[in-house]
Amino acid sequence: SPRVVIIGAGIVGANLADELVQLGHTNTLVIEQGPLNLPGGSTSHAPGLVFSSNPSKSMTAFAQYTIEKLTSLVGADGRGSFLPVGGLEIATTEARLQDLHRRAGWNRSYGVQAEVIEAADCLKKFPMLNPEKVLGGLFTKNDGLALASKGTSLVIERAQAAGVEFRDGTVVTDIEQSGGKVTAVICGEDRFEADIVVSCAGFWGPNIGKMVGTPIPLLPLGHQFAWSTPAPSLAGINEQPAGATRPILRYQDGDLYYREWGDRIGIGSYAHRPMPVDLDTLARYAPSEITEERMPSSLAFTPEDFAAEWEATQELLPDLRNTQIQRGFNGIFSFTPDGGSLVGESREVDGFFVAEAVWVTHAPGIARAVAQLITSGQSETDLSDCDLNRFEDVQTTKEYVSETSQQNFVEIYDIRHPLEPRLKPRNVRTSPFFARQQELGAFFLEGTGWERPHWYQANAALLDQLPQEWAAPARDQWSNMFHSPIAAVEAWKTRTAVAMFDMTPLKRVEITGPGAGQMLQGLTTANMLRAPGMVSYTLLLNSAGSITSDITVARISEQLYQAGINSNVDVAYLDREARKFNEANPGQWVSVRDITAGTSCIGLWGPLAPEVMAKVSEDDLSNDGLKYFRTKQISIAGIPVTAMRLSYVGEFGWELYASADVSARLWDVLFEAGQEHGIIAGGREAFNSMRLEKGFRSFGTDVTTEHEPEQAGLGFAVKAAKTADFVGKDALASRAAAATTRLRCLTIDDGTSVVLGKEPVYVDGVPAGYVTSAAYGYTVRKPIAYAWLPSSVETGDSVQIEYFGRLLTASVVDDPLYDPQMDRLRG
Ligand code: FAD
Repeated sequence: SPRVVIIGAGIVGANLADELVQLGHTNTLVIEQGPLNLPGGSTSHAPGLVFSSNPSKSMTAFAQYTIEKLTSLVGADGRGSFLPVGGLEIATTEARLQDLHRRAGWNRSYGVQAEVIEAADCLKKFPMLNPEKVLGGLFTKNDGLALASKGTSLVIERAQAAGVEFRDGTVVTDIEQSGGKVTAVICGEDRFEADIVVSCAGFWGPNIGKMVGTPIPLLPLGHQFAWSTPAPSLAGINEQPAGATRPILRYQDGDLYYREWGDRIGIGSYAHRPMPVDLDTLARYAPSEITEERMPSSLAFTPEDFAAEWEATQELLPDLRNTQIQRGFNGIFSFTPDGGSLVGESREVDGFFVAEAVWVTHAPGIARAVAQLITSGQSETDLSDCDLNRFEDVQTTKEYVSETSQQNFVEIYDIRHPLEPRLKPRNVRTSPFFARQQELGAFFLEGTGWERPHWYQANAALLDQLPQEWAAPARDQWSNMFHSPIAAVEAWKTRTAVAMFDMTPLKRVEITGPGAGQMLQGLTTANMLRAPGMVSYTLLLNSAGSITSDITVARISEQLYQAGINSNVDVAYLDREARKFNEANPGQWVSVRDITAGTSCIGLWGPLAPEVMAKVSEDDLSNDGLKYFRTKQISIAGIPVTAMRLSYVGEFGWELYASADVSARLWDVLFEAGQEHGIIAGGREAFNSMRLEKGFRSFGTDVTTEHEPEQAGLGFAVKAAKTADFVGKDALASRAAAATTRLRCLTIDDGTSVVLGKEPVYVDGVPAGYVTSAAYGYTVRKPIAYAWLPSSVETGDSVQIEYFGRLLTASVVDDPLYDPQMDRLRG
């Protein structure tokens, strides 16, 4: 079996070694610079709070596994490595109290027991709380405290007993590679051969990344933690000096959290200024020098940063007025541009994996996922939220990582709307139409660095012409944020006249070479060897038959394909597959190139789109001239354009691709020609509404790697006639048979309530699924929500969606809601 070398024996590295053993892989070496019993990384001082609440289903699942695993790790004292004291998040403002309902919803969506409780009940659970401050709380009874050091020691012992080798006091100084693959780990004079290297180096990750040329977008930051002196009311409560009986406590309104620590209170703070740490100036200790008080991940306490926090703490927990700060430290941990972990195989170097920026809360869960990745090529739990390759190049630069990670630290406990864009840095990536969009008063949101118009203020001028039946009902305050009634105008115009949508930020790659068709044929569920001019919507599967992406592939010419893909994760996958293909097929070659930034895309859609096109192009773009799902090269007013007869909004029209230099001119030509037909520029809000009306799934939101085609409603994309082998083909039938849930379309019965995604759905009064995407459907005149529900749920059934603690009745309907016969699209 391949030799796996793990760098770092913190909670992540140690659990990875153990999880590999559980999967039958023992050819593993773990290298740790510190002493094994107290390596000196973040784990060595982690206070261990495990709160499950998380907007990500996968992160919630990882936390649940952590609780389960640590509970099962019983030490010589006869006790497990988890204290199930419960978790309590308290509200001291009305807005927070509201938000706790939303957070409770995430819990219920993903199978975690949670209840919003009254202030009096919060006080019963945590009697120290100031009754005058607390308005209520969110109680998660199975959360609690990870005994991280103990649990880590126990998995190390277990892995050692199974034959895993651990070398402590050994610093990794370099990683050797050859032919794009890792070959060995170098520790000074020593060389350890490796087929796979996994960096579990925590906040030291960027240093390890440099050794192989893989950017690791994390920033080490200082974070304050302090202890009070013994509090009179805690005397005798806890048997153990570091024990706890009361719930772990979050005071998000004050950017603070707490736990009992014997008769003292431990206090963690995010209220201070961000404290970035320069890895090059970090103290280095010999293993023998590391103690509980002195370790590389622990910096000296800066009391001046804690003064206001201590006051806020004493106000919340008045008992602490009788105490002082006994001691504190500024511990180092990792933050990333979107706050998520970094997990997966490097895009640049085969065999180099990372599992970094991982909280104790998620560590055993993520370790198991990485062990599955290594042994079988796929993780059972979807990794999109934490995939190392999800960032664009511009998001992995030192400056971007530093600015965004510091901002995430500051905002960690803020109430954030799911559509709320970051404020800085902005205008990082702009399409060639940016100036035109600004002129039209675009309201921009940000995604993967791109500025993306959500609606255009210019279209407000049409509001008074909007036919009554197209106007949407008023919304509640939360769903009204980052929403504009202008979206109704944009949907109306798209469905009844013509609109232009900037699709530039949707990623696309060129796949070229004599081997291009053959490689794609082996990776997708459709026939990739059809004649040039054909376009296919197809799926990428893993070998277990689960969907890893949905892509649209156009065969432009014999050896040139253009694929619309979802993210950099797809680029990483296609790149790696191309390398493998080239190695396995010496006479052939294939190459993958990201062309997103060098090109643009306009979606020109609507019943009057042909009239506009007829004015600017002499090419035959009639229904016969370019059929649905076909592509050809055309000229629009002398601009070379690749036209594809596709539409994400379900209207007749084309995606028009041009190179970046001529794109602004293309926009102008179309916009001007469209004036007499009432053309508008449309934004993402209207787009998303029309996409859901048409039932088009969005990968990463509606569908993830935890789903197979049939249950996702994408069975049509697996072509029964395809005789050629492709990844996942053999597993499809059994995978489909094992599926217990289906993606269903719901409409909300009151006709007015718009939800936003991630809300729990109740079947027969019990949480049984969750919403993925939702929007108001302007054409169908109903609020729409897609949700994963048990397969037993049938069309016509009534279910309930929980929204801020209220239950909204919704009906399960067949989809798509709009144009199910495809009359509009097919022309
Ligand atoms: P680490 O424990 O840092 O392990 C990385 C290891 O890699 C280290 O032991 C290091 O010595 C080794 N290493 C690095 N470079 C090399 C090299 N070149 N050669 C050999 N070995 C190397 N998380 C929670 O979930 N709940 C909490 O309540 C919580 N509270 C926290 C409070 C503070 C003050 C801090 C600082 C963090 C807290 N965290 C908490 C975060 C949590 O501690 C970390 O996310 C977690 O411990 C990271 O584990 P790890 O194994 O990835 O990293």
